[in-house]
Amino acid sequence: MSGPVQHVYWVVNCQTKNCRPMFVSYIGIYDEHRVYGIPSTVPMQFERCCEACGRTHTYNALELRSHPFPSAPAPDWEPSF
Ligand SMILES: [Zn+2]
Repeated sequence: MSGPVQHVYWVVNCQTKNCRPMFVSYIGIYDEHRVYGIPSTVPMQFERCCEACGRTHTYNALELRSHPFPSAPAPDWEPSF
């Protein structure tokens, strides 16, 4: 058996030097057996304001990676797509 339920997100590295990765979209309940391919509905480029540094950068869909995390998104959190 596996541990407690994990959630999975699309994450990119903030382009501000020495800043941290940021969550841009929620995928759902994490499934360790699934391969998370970037869906065709994701825009090739999108802008995202970083909550840590406050700067907005443009990101490419190819920069996305799936990232498991213990918590579901907060109700007021707004995904990019
Ligand atoms: Zn940042």
